[in-house]
Amino acid sequence: MLTDQTLVTDAACAASLRDLAMRRLAPNGRNYSVWYEYHEGKNFALRHAIDQHLAAGATIDEAEMHALHGRFLCDAQQDRLLSENRLLAQGTLQEVVALLSRAAVEHSQSGHVIAEAGRSLAEDSSRLANVVTALLAETDAMSRRGEILGRRLDAATRQISGLEKRLSVARHEATVDPLTELLNRRAFDAALQRVTQQAAATKEPLAMLMVDVDRFKRINDSWGHPVGDAVLRVVANKLRQSSRDTDTVARYGGEEFVVLLPKAPLAEAMMVADRVRLAVCGRNLTLRDTGKVIGTVTVSAGVSIYRPGEPVADFLTRADEALIQAKQSGRNRVMTLEGAMA
Ligand code: GH3
Ligand code: MG
Ligand code: MG
Repeated sequence: MLTDQTLVTDAACAASLRDLAMRRLAPNGRNYSVWYEYHEGKNFALRHAIDQHLAAGATIDEAEMHALHGRFLCDAQQDRLLSENRLLAQGTLQEVVALLSRAAVEHSQSGHVIAEAGRSLAEDSSRLANVVTALLAETDAMSRRGEILGRRLDAATRQISGLEKRLSVARHEATVDPLTELLNRRAFDAALQRVTQQAAATKEPLAMLMVDVDRFKRINDSWGHPVGDAVLRVVANKLRQSSRDTDTVARYGGEEFVVLLPKAPLAEAMMVADRVRLAVCGRNLTLRDTGKVIGTVTVSAGVSIYRPGEPVADFLTRADEALIQAKQSGRNRVMTLEGAMA
């Protein structure tokens, strides 16, 4: 059956192959997946980067493909695991389907034997003893076949449920950032598509907070990477505590976080961002094991409001530009460009 999604998928597939040929890129999985995601249009960050590259008149060679893949199709290993699991699950499912159709054939063969017996009986009732023997033999064979089939189905079912579990672990690993346990960039991109569509459909407001740790490099340089990691976990917790269940909280990359707040108008989003800012800088951070005081850590934030129908990249850019302004104005503050542009 042809659905809209199939059409989109087919079009993205054809366009990707065309791009590989036109740009003389090797037709391998890595290059294909970069172009596929570009044409599919859901990975807006990748799309934005390629569009910018093309607008600047630059060519996209193998080195650039490698860089794009590394930057935007992160978790390549997870990708592989997911697709391997899918293929395995598919194989097992095909096996089950084959078993079931064989059972159906065998069942109908038994049906023939029984029908044949009925006909013999009608023709000559003196052959009753033979017919009963034949029927008993067939029933016996049927139940043996049933047992074998049952055992095979049991084994296949166990195998499928094992695969399901592995798949759900892989899915978790593919969408969650292991350091902070927040959603990762890939999951955020998917959520962004979903909630912007919802906001456009319901005409309800949708806000975005882009939050970045101030002078984070200094923390790493002074205290080491593990302490930097611990600081990222603290900031992630403050973000989690300041948001509602319906909000999407994600690690956008490095020391940058992003929150989507459905149904939040600008004033409310600014308040939430400031609550996060105050929660982070409100206390001195201390190393648990040595008791050493790291001091205060601050964050800056940019807030944007979605304009129904606009490309998601614009929504994101406005939050990012507001964040840059917050940095340029001295850090440890929340800014928005919405008021100025309204
Ligand atoms: P600004 O206030 O302008 O944001 O300055 P900054 O120092 O925070 O920004 P900059 O981009 O110069 O440095 C960010 C640093 O974050 C550099 C990078 O090494 C570090 N970083 C990125 N990811 C991680 C991580 O997972 N753990 C740790 N510890 N550091 C990270
Ligand atoms: Mg920073
Ligand atoms: Mg940053």
